[in-house]
Amino acid sequence: MIKLYAGLLCLLLFTAPALGNSQRSLEMSCGGELVQGGFVICSLPKTASGNYQINYGNGKTTDISSAHPALIPFSRNSALHIELAVIGASTDQQEIQPTHLQLTKGTWAIERIDGLPPGKITPRTLEQQRKVEADWIKKQAAWKHRANASWYANGFVKPVEKSRISGVYGSQRILNGQPKNPHLGFDFAAPKGTKIHAPANAIVVLADPDMYFEGGLLILDHGDGVMSVMLHLSRLDVKAGDVVNQGEVIGAVGATGRSTGPHLHWGIKVRGTYINPKLLLDYQVK
Ligand SMILES: [Zn+2]
Repeated sequence: MIKLYAGLLCLLLFTAPALGNSQRSLEMSCGGELVQGGFVICSLPKTASGNYQINYGNGKTTDISSAHPALIPFSRNSALHIELAVIGASTDQQEIQPTHLQLTKGTWAIERIDGLPPGKITPRTLEQQRKVEADWIKKQAAWKHRANASWYANGFVKPVEKSRISGVYGSQRILNGQPKNPHLGFDFAAPKGTKIHAPANAIVVLADPDMYFEGGLLILDHGDGVMSVMLHLSRLDVKAGDVVNQGEVIGAVGATGRSTGPHLHWGIKVRGTYINPKLLLDYQVK
């Protein structure tokens, strides 16, 4: 009799997880701004065990687990239908269903800027070209950074408090009459020396006072390669490796590099994709 019970118990222990597997299909929850240039922040249910990756198209992936959310960026020219496939094995083979998102089209302005010194549009001398190349290498190294944090999920504040919006994300730019790449940041016009605040907690990845196009430049990683890039600064108050808190003063507005007047250009680049910083400011953390 005892043997029989022991046998039954073994059978139950053996089959229970297998029965459970077919019911272990879980779903991510994603919230954000479903528009070109927007983003979603996705999280897994607490019951999901193990580490996963989200494949969000064009071979791009990012990590996600029940303890660590993921920010998925949509480029200015993103497809309007996005499938987020979740890959990776958990210890007990929980399956996460793909998430389908439908975006709306972005609407973009046309901005004309005249009176820029010609050498700042296309570098002319060999010396200028070498400087641009050296700057490019520094930036490439910075973009590879991935802070193991999700500070971006706690919301963003304006980096310049009192300012005038002088440029928006997505505009088609015409510089001295030449059509150029679209503007992929947000511009805050303010007098030279106006304080710049960290828009969210971050680690400083690159701090360089003298880049050819950008002038004084800061790159901050807000976690998982969600990066702020800040241009034209007159003063930098932090250095690479510093950890900064939201609201902390990190530099001052200037007109260094390719700039016609004092302003902060603030871009958000997420693992190679620029998104609209304004949408991060609008995002309400739940
Ligand atoms: Zn700008």
